[in-house]
Parts: sequence; C-alpha cells; structure tokens
Amino acid sequence: MTAYPHLLAPLDLGFTTLKNRVLMGSMHTGLEETRDWNRVAEFYATRARGGVALMVTGGMAPNAEGGVFPGAAGLFSDDDIANHKIVTDRVHDAGGKIAMQILHAGRYAYSQDCVSASAVKSPISPFPPKELDADGIEKQISDIVTAAVRARQAGYDGVEVMGSEGYFLNQFLVTHVNKRTDEWGGSYENRMRLPIEVVTRVREAVGADFILIYRLSMIDLIPNGSTWAEVVQLAKAIEAAGATILNTGIGWHEARIPTIATSVPRAAFSWVTKKLMGEVGIPVITSNRINTPQVAEDVLSDGCADMVSMARPFLADPDFVAKAAAGQAAQITPCIACNQACLDHTFSGKMSTCLVNPRACYETELVLSPASAVKTVAVVGAGPAGLSTALALSERGHKVSIFEKAKQIGGQLNMAKQVPGKEEFWGLVEYYEAMVAEAGIKLRLGEVADVDALAGFDEVVIATGVLPRDPAIPGQDGSNVLSYIDVLRGKAPVGKRVAVIGAGGIGFDVAEFLVTDDSPTDDLQAWLTEWGVADPQDVRGGVAAAGPQPEPPVREVTLLQRKAQKLGKNLGKTTGWIHRAALQMKNVKMIGGVNYERIDADGLHVSYGEARENPTLIAVDTIVLCAGQVPERSLADALIAAGRTCHVIGGADVASELDAKRAIDQGTRLAATL
Ligand code: NAP
Ligand code: SF4
Repeated sequence: MTAYPHLLAPLDLGFTTLKNRVLMGSMHTGLEETRDWNRVAEFYATRARGGVALMVTGGMAPNAEGGVFPGAAGLFSDDDIANHKIVTDRVHDAGGKIAMQILHAGRYAYSQDCVSASAVKSPISPFPPKELDADGIEKQISDIVTAAVRARQAGYDGVEVMGSEGYFLNQFLVTHVNKRTDEWGGSYENRMRLPIEVVTRVREAVGADFILIYRLSMIDLIPNGSTWAEVVQLAKAIEAAGATILNTGIGWHEARIPTIATSVPRAAFSWVTKKLMGEVGIPVITSNRINTPQVAEDVLSDGCADMVSMARPFLADPDFVAKAAAGQAAQITPCIACNQACLDHTFSGKMSTCLVNPRACYETELVLSPASAVKTVAVVGAGPAGLSTALALSERGHKVSIFEKAKQIGGQLNMAKQVPGKEEFWGLVEYYEAMVAEAGIKLRLGEVADVDALAGFDEVVIATGVLPRDPAIPGQDGSNVLSYIDVLRGKAPVGKRVAVIGAGGIGFDVAEFLVTDDSPTDDLQAWLTEWGVADPQDVRGGVAAAGPQPEPPVREVTLLQRKAQKLGKNLGKTTGWIHRAALQMKNVKMIGGVNYERIDADGLHVSYGEARENPTLIAVDTIVLCAGQVPERSLADALIAAGRTCHVIGGADVASELDAKRAIDQGTRLAATL
C-alpha cells in the first residue's frame, strides 16, 4: 500500500492514460537553444525514466515576434521537427509522455518586434509592443496552430498553450493592456475571443487524440486583473473549445507578490485552483511550491486538483516519482525553491541547472560513473561542499569517511534554516542525513581531523568552509557586538535596536531574522495577509485593496554597507526584490556609502564618503557583524606543509561570493574525477 494513493493513481484522458498525477511543468532551461539534441533528449529521458507521467517542454516560440528573446527556440522548419523527434523518441523509449509548450510572449518579449493587444509597455520590459491589426492577430493564431501541428509531427503527445503569467493570450484578457475597440477588445466576451479561437483552431488542426493543455491564469496578482467570474467563464469556454486539461498559472510576471520563491508557503495557491474544481469537467492541475510527495498527496486528497504540476523539483531530482512510489521519499533531493541555479541562470542568459543537483541539464557531461579503482577517501567538513562530494564519491563506489568537528552535519545550512522564509533548509539537511546513512558513509561527528588522522586515506578532500571576516572596527570587542553566528545559532540575546554591518546575503538574512517573530512561511493566512493576496472572488486579480499588511517588526534594524550602491544589488536576480521588499515592509533602514568609525556603548559611529564627512551616531543596543568570510584553510595548509596532497573545495578554496551552489557544484565535479 503506497503512502501516496492519490498521487500515484492513473488518470484516464479517454484516448490515452497518464500513469500518475504528476506533471513536470514547463521550465525554460536554455537547453533547447543549445541545439544539442542529444543533450536535450537525455534531460527529458532521465525524467521519464524517473516515473513522471507527463512532461512539458520549455516554451517554444510560434514565430519570431512571439519569442521570449530573439533566437528563442521554436519549431520553425522540417529540420526542427526532425530534431525534436530525437527528444520525443527518447522519452517514449523511456516510457514517458511529453507535451510541447507553445509560448507567445507578447509584450514580455525582449525584442523591438514584440506585439500585443495594444501598444502598452509592460513594467518589466524596455520595449513597447506594436498593436496588432486584425491580420496580425490572424497571423499569430495561425502560427500557434502551425506550431501545434508541427509538435504532433515531431512525436509530441500534446501541446500546452501558454495562456497565463501575463503572456500574449493573457494580455488580451485585461483592460489595462487590451484597449481595443474591435471584436478582440471591449467586452470580456471579446477580450477572451483570442484564447478561445486559439484552442478551437489548435484542436481542429491536431485531431481529437492529442493532449491539449491550456495554462490559465487563476489569479493574476496585478491590479485590474481578471475577476473570479471571468476566470470561470474562460475556463468553461476553453473546455468547450477542446482543451484536454487545464493547468494553473499564478500571477503575472510583473506582479509584485512572490509566487514561487522559498519564502512562499508550500502549496500556497492550491486553494485558488480548488475553487475551479467542479466548474469544469476536464482535469485541473494545480501548481506552485509543491515540492514533496506528501504535499502533493495532501493537495490532491483535499480536492484542490486532479493533478499536480512540479517543475523545479524535477531539476533537483529526476527520480522524484519513482522514489515516492518505492517508499523512499526521504531520499528525494529536495528543491529548496532558491532559484539560484535555475531561474536566476535563465534570467542571466546562462544554462539552468540546480543548486542541489548540478547534474541537472548537464546529464551528458557530468557523469558519476563507477570508479575504475575503489579508493578510500576522507572528506573533512560536512557542509554542503563536503556532503555533496561524499555522496557523489560514494555513488561511484569509493569508500568515504566524513570528519566533522560539530556534533551535526550541515555546516552553514544549519544557520540558513533559522532564517524566516528559509525553512526549506531543514529538509535539505534531513535529506543529507538520510543519504549519508543510506550510502553507508562513515560519519565521524565531533572529530577534529588533523594530519595524522588523515594518514592512510588514498584521497583527502578539504571542505572546512569559512571563518567570519574580521572587519577591524575599533570597539568591536565590546559586549554589544555579536557575529552573525552568535545570532543565527540563537546563542546571544539581541537588543531592540540593532545595526547590521554588511548587506550581503547573510546581512539580509540576519536582518530578516531580527525583525520577524513568527515566520509567515509557516502560516499561509499570515503570509497571504503580509503580501496582500486576496480571494479573487472578492477583488479583481486577487490583490488586496489595503495592500501588504505585515506584522510589525520586532526590532528596529539598520542594515549598512560601505559601497555607495543600492543594498542587495548582488542578491539573486529573481529573489533579491523579495528580500528588499520584505525588509522594507518591516521598516529596516538601509544605508550605503558608510565608513565604520568606531563602536562604543552608545552604538555605531559612522561617517560618509571618502572624505569621512558627516559623522553620525547610529544609536543601537546591538551591532551584528556580517562582513563576509575568509577561507578556513588551516588544515589544508598543514597537510601541504607535511608534504601531503589534498583537494580543497568550497569556502576553504575561495570564500568570496561563496554560496552553496558553487560549493555543491565544485564538490560533485571533483567527485566525478577521482
Ligand atoms: P557577502 O555577500 O560577500 O557580503 C559581505 C558584506 O560585508 C558586504 O555587504 C560587504 O559590503 C561587507 N564587507 C566586506 N568586507 C567588509 C569589511 N572589511 N568590513 C565591513 N564590511 C565588509 O558575504 P555574506 O553576506 O557573508 O554571504 C556569503 C555568501 O552566502 C554570499 O555569496 C551570498 O551569496 C551567500 N548567501 C546568499 C543568500 C541569498 O541569496 N539570500 C543568503 C545568505 C548567503 P561592503 O564591502 O560594501 O561594506
Ligand atoms: Fe530548486 Fe534551487 Fe534547484 Fe532551482 S536551483 S531547482 S529552486 S533547488
């Protein structure tokens, strides 16, 4: 008897059956743009082997003007059809099903040629769109239909028509983008004509026995978004037009409410999809922040949807479904919703991968093959670098021992998990604990490894991490000064008025920790109130009229840096704005361009600019140092001095700009070579 009966139940679509209720949602990884079709095929086939019922590709442009950026992948020629067939064949051989997403970006296209209902520029794009005339609209429909026909020729099991997230079809639905007065604008019937026409004509063109998913924006999270009545009206019309399945879209890309970041509670929007259940007869998929089999099972058993869509969890672990089915949920590498290696890469023009699984999208290049000679390997340090190295080495058959001076594994992850909104790190540490035990790795907790202890191992990997940087501020030895370690480990009392020195990732985390009592991530209603999310049945677009209503801050915090630039500039591309907004909501003062002059019992004395002008006292009870880190290399240096060779990775190698992404990637890549 499985623990996930709803999740693993097949879904009969009439002409075909899905083997379970799991959809791998569309992700723009950048793989298709490489045109390395073997690599693309291996990415999807790996996930098909892992048991997911149906996958959706990254968005494929139906034409040049609809591409998310110039050169975005699409299915434009017979050659393209043959290339995509390499992918679909490999997926089918692996026992999977795959649908191609047709994504027309409309005014979100990063291109001067972008088009939309009206010439209304989006707040997140520099390019104003051209307003389409009637012929132009007909061309877009016809190109979308052609893409669907080509998808069928390429062997796809279906298509997903992207109608949410504020993309082209979605743009026609709302009056602040659609200002037309012809048959495509004005009344809601006119504004929803385009998506219905698209679905009708795609269905006519592809035949009855082809999956047609329509991704519908259930809650726009923008002012002037759709009403709930309009959502239901559109859903019914899309069903009547021939869709097989309705997928859920949450929020336009220009929304200022987070929808998938790690601080968003798990399954935070399934209640929205649930409102549609019973309104339509076709299966409905729910989405967003579902990342464990139990969360997915709960959502389904609660009647929120017929299927769940998970996307990033399949970057983290291609075998998610197979492991759930085998009762090995504890061994699923958890997606922590950090965006650091997936979406942040996409938006920086880099190939997506995954912080916790650097093999994602690198399946053909980063291979953990069985070792030709089994070695004994000592890994010193059980932070993310050491743990990932140890697991990858063990997977290759090496005999691994981990030395860790603390009484627990996890290193800096144990501090991250204390930060409100970063609760997912608990699951990551638990995963590493489960995997270390499963792999039979010898764990030597509470042991400080020295040169003698490491004698006799064939290889030694130093992953001893980092030490806090000494900012050398006069007075920093005072009892009112703490390091971020004291604070995040909860060891030291912190006063009501606090200055945080250093505004990197840790400075932001510490500020969040200091102003928050109960994390709203653990309480859905509190989180919805904090960010101003309302029921779309009560208010258009689901944006509360009163706006965000955060709990008052529990401390008065000032966050400082020396650089005269916006604080948090180097935080994640897709999440930095959330961290900044969260602190602004809690009245955290952010000050750049300071010199730290001294600390005394009155607080922190600063001056401004190169001339050290405008001396100012920031009157606080506590000063917390978050001034970055330096490598902890003492063991590596001792080994080298003793004539031993070792591999130094993670923060012990380079501390600046260190994050878990680089540490895990470096460790896994090293393990692949030993
Ligand atoms: P960091 O990002 O390098 O930031 C260090 C901060 O300390 C900067 O604000 C820097 O600003 C300041 N600083 C540097 N030298 C200083 C000195 N001598 N005296 C005073 N201030 C000094 O390091 P971190 O905050 O410790 O974070 C470590 C890594 O963890 C980062 O790479 C980060 O990406 C990652 N991380 C990320 C997140 C996230 O994305 N949410 C969260 C936690 C950690 P000035 O030089 O301008 O003063
Ligand atoms: Fe999830 Fe982070 Fe991996 Fe993206 S990089 S898939 S958000 S764990």
